[in-house]
Amino acid sequence: MPGAAVDIPGADRGYPGLVAAPDSPIRTSTAISGLENTFADRLGPLTVPWQGAEVSSPTMVVLNVDLAVALGLDPSALRTDDGLAVLSGAASPADAQPVATAYSGHQFGGYAPMLGDGRALLLGELLDPRGHRVDIQLKGSGPTPFSRGGDGFAVLGPMLREYVVSEAMNALGIPTTRSLSVVATGRDVRREGAQPGAVLARVAASHLRVGTFELAARHANLLAPLADYAIERHYPELAGLPADGDGNRYQRFLAAVVERQAELVARWMLVGFVHGVMNTDNTTISGETIDYGPCAFIDAFDPNAVFSSIDHGGRYAFGNQPTVLKWNLARFAETLLTLIDPTPDAAIASATAALNSFDDHYSRHFRAGMAAKLGLDDASVDAVLIDDLFTLLDDHHVDWTGAFRALADDLRGNPEPLDGLIPREQAASWITRWRTALADHGRDGATTAKAMDRVNPRYIPRNHHLDAALRAATDGDLLPVEELVDVVTHPFAHRPEWAAYEGPAPESFTSGFQTFCGT
Ligand code: AMP
Ligand code: MG
Repeated sequence: MPGAAVDIPGADRGYPGLVAAPDSPIRTSTAISGLENTFADRLGPLTVPWQGAEVSSPTMVVLNVDLAVALGLDPSALRTDDGLAVLSGAASPADAQPVATAYSGHQFGGYAPMLGDGRALLLGELLDPRGHRVDIQLKGSGPTPFSRGGDGFAVLGPMLREYVVSEAMNALGIPTTRSLSVVATGRDVRREGAQPGAVLARVAASHLRVGTFELAARHANLLAPLADYAIERHYPELAGLPADGDGNRYQRFLAAVVERQAELVARWMLVGFVHGVMNTDNTTISGETIDYGPCAFIDAFDPNAVFSSIDHGGRYAFGNQPTVLKWNLARFAETLLTLIDPTPDAAIASATAALNSFDDHYSRHFRAGMAAKLGLDDASVDAVLIDDLFTLLDDHHVDWTGAFRALADDLRGNPEPLDGLIPREQAASWITRWRTALADHGRDGATTAKAMDRVNPRYIPRNHHLDAALRAATDGDLLPVEELVDVVTHPFAHRPEWAAYEGPAPESFTSGFQTFCGT
């Protein structure tokens, strides 16, 4: 029983300010069952058994039927009262032991020793029909011992933003947490005025983050068990390696996380995604994108693009993301030093080498991705050609997503879309060089254009569409969100009836656009 299971008061665990779980026994629901708890079983001190707040009138806003089926869940059961109760946090899955997890983090560069799930609840781990273990977590399910000054709740707009953007990212082939559902709670949540409360059910390879290691590093007895747990769960190929000596599993673990995260941020850059709040508690060990708060896609190419209302210094601007990620990974490396080598100098040398591999991994993935976007391959792309394209796009404020579709159209003999973006005389010399590169590598126009269309999305969640859809949903009209989900989960399709979703926002929209932190 989650309530009764808080048998160790927070103070005993060294978490200041912990209070006991609400002790009214929570209902259980069979709409989700069979969850496991390997994280809480092995890293108990990093968790607090907890339960969600009561929800009087939950209603389904959106259910990801395909994801439910892929997870082996029954979508019709999730739509019943029992299903709504579990997806809103009001009931616990049968036999589960939900927990709030503890973690630290560097937020905008400053260390916060205790963050944790202040408005989230880890229901447990589900083994999908293919045997993959995923976390099912609720976001917005009520206060926890980690809520600090917050209310523990979430509102509809930001939870739908996470749903739409995470599912778009997944459709783009980018590693990400997934969204199973958004349930409206019927509770008014105070933000700027009263907003409709909502709970997102999130599915993740795990919720282990750099911040989890930052907390464990302060508790000597937790660090190695946490690292071993993370290795077994996300890098099982390293689990059999020795714990010490050259090439030990902790050295290799650091290098592996560096590589996965380098690839991830390269993929963000290739689609023009701005995460917005790349704190170390939002950097996963699995290599998935997590925590869609003030995120956005760029329209015009702009390395300085910032959309978050709280990122005053532009720390998390579009073009800074690789540098910031490497900084986050340096914080991760620091947590592992004592495991990497008992001799501090040797540990630092080894960790530094792993960290520095970030640049090569990033460049390799970015370059290969850019080559593919231009119909070339890794061996045939010329770095100067790419740089000059960026200059051209920057100078003319060209829409990033539209540019690559227009280049493919140009190859097919349809110059109109490109002419609409850059005056032909300005683009001509670059286009000639690009076409020469294609010809030199034996690429014919039609085949290349087709290959480009398979990697360059036509539809992304454009800020103006997302903004309008979230406003409509907040006012009770769900149709625009439903259509937007349909569009952005088919990013490479071509449907004439979706033409309005293709172009960038009008300048009048973009100039004042900000997204808020999603709380
Ligand atoms: P996030 O911006 O979602 O990554 O959250 C950063 C930290 O703030 C985490 O520890 C969250 O649990 C906490 N937090 C965010 N919103 C709330 C809220 N409404 N109530 C309590 N804690 C919150
Ligand atoms: Mg977070």
